[in-house]
Amino acid sequence: MSTLVLEGCTVVTMDGHGGEYGHGSEYATGHVVITGNVITAVGPGSPPLFAASPARPHNTGVSSPGDGGGGAVRRIDASGCLATPGLINTHHHLYQWGTRGMAADATLFEWLTQLYPVWAWMDADVVRPLATAALSWLARSGCSTTMDHHYVFPRSGGDLLGATVAAARQVGLRFHPTRGSMDLGVSAGGLPPDDVVEDRDAILVASKAAIEEFHDASPHSMLRIGLAPCSPFSVTSELLTDAAELARQAGVRLHTHLAETADEDEYCAEHFGCTPVEYLDSLGWLGADVWLAHGVHLDDAAITRLAATGTGVAHCPSSNGRLGSGICRAHDLLVAKVPVGLGVDGAASSEESSLIGEVRQAALIARSAGGPRAMTVRQALELGTMGGARLLGRDQEVGSLEAGKLADIALWRLDTLPHAGIADPVAALVLGARPPLELLLVNGETIVERDQLVTVDERAVTAQSRRASAVLARRR
Ligand SMILES: [Zn+2]
Repeated sequence: MSTLVLEGCTVVTMDGHGGEYGHGSEYATGHVVITGNVITAVGPGSPPLFAASPARPHNTGVSSPGDGGGGAVRRIDASGCLATPGLINTHHHLYQWGTRGMAADATLFEWLTQLYPVWAWMDADVVRPLATAALSWLARSGCSTTMDHHYVFPRSGGDLLGATVAAARQVGLRFHPTRGSMDLGVSAGGLPPDDVVEDRDAILVASKAAIEEFHDASPHSMLRIGLAPCSPFSVTSELLTDAAELARQAGVRLHTHLAETADEDEYCAEHFGCTPVEYLDSLGWLGADVWLAHGVHLDDAAITRLAATGTGVAHCPSSNGRLGSGICRAHDLLVAKVPVGLGVDGAASSEESSLIGEVRQAALIARSAGGPRAMTVRQALELGTMGGARLLGRDQEVGSLEAGKLADIALWRLDTLPHAGIADPVAALVLGARPPLELLLVNGETIVERDQLVTVDERAVTAQSRRASAVLARRR
């Protein structure tokens, strides 16, 4: 089994074991040792086995077989870099890569109404390159695990979920796709046009099939399925109830959009006579196996209820800003001990859609709303790492740099023009420009090296996604 040793880098573990800032052990100069797909050592200075001889500079790309006893050993001099856990994205719609820049100045309901008819023309041939592009950009932004929420399934679209799974396998990210759904068309009081919603029984059959075909519950899993009816204004309460029952029978997690806009608040008041959180609560949809996208419009009672049930929130600050939806009460959620992670949301409502960008936005928007101490830089990084791992049910396996955890690691270069000389490396990463990504490991495999994707050809991915976007635009 091969061993990889990162040496001479700053290490921010996010392991929750105290440290100066309370979010985990940090080493100004430290090491991470990876054997196969697992982290086997993290600590200060050089790893004891290699202390006597210097590591090779990263740019040589030379392996030193045999140093560690059994299997090839590659040692990397990572000085000038910061090692963090790979970032974890808890809300996304990969297919939306193909409709970026549309309805650029609209509210959520206006934006959806303009885009549903475009999405109605999707098929697997279009979704595959769009998902590959979205996943490639996530990888470039330090993301090692992502969910996807695909909820538009045109009748002649083919195997759209399969297309996203194939894309994730090609790019190499750990993948948590959710089988999304909509069954409440405009004629029945919903927001989407009737021709983009599905029949409830067909949704449940497809959801069960997705779990059977793709879900891997094993501890080192690269793919776990979830179920994700879209939102209160696009699905029936019957579908929410049935999906929850199916998910709990199968042992998979539940996800939906909730409390994103004031319009949704009004919709719930008008149709259900309660708030969005009360509505979900009435359907058995709060619990530690549920995470909700956005959670912007939450009153104190809703936050208390989310905390009491262990329901998570995927905070998507850029999308909320892009659509002018409001500001998530992230500080209050954290104080109440609600599990919070970060999401880029679909690229059509967040064209930048990089996860390290969301970490920065989360810190800035929390402080804009709640003052300079509303979110520390380390809290923001924690949301993008361990926070996300908790939402996806993977906090025992990923989200921190600890011996025994899976080797999902981002190595950021902080010794170039934008960052050299910034005193605090976490402030450099969170508040500074997006640093070059020296290395991204997922399950011990190299996905990005020296800011270049190694699993896919970025130029080809770009050309193919541009063509897919043009196909969608022509079909409107
Ligand atoms: Zn969304």
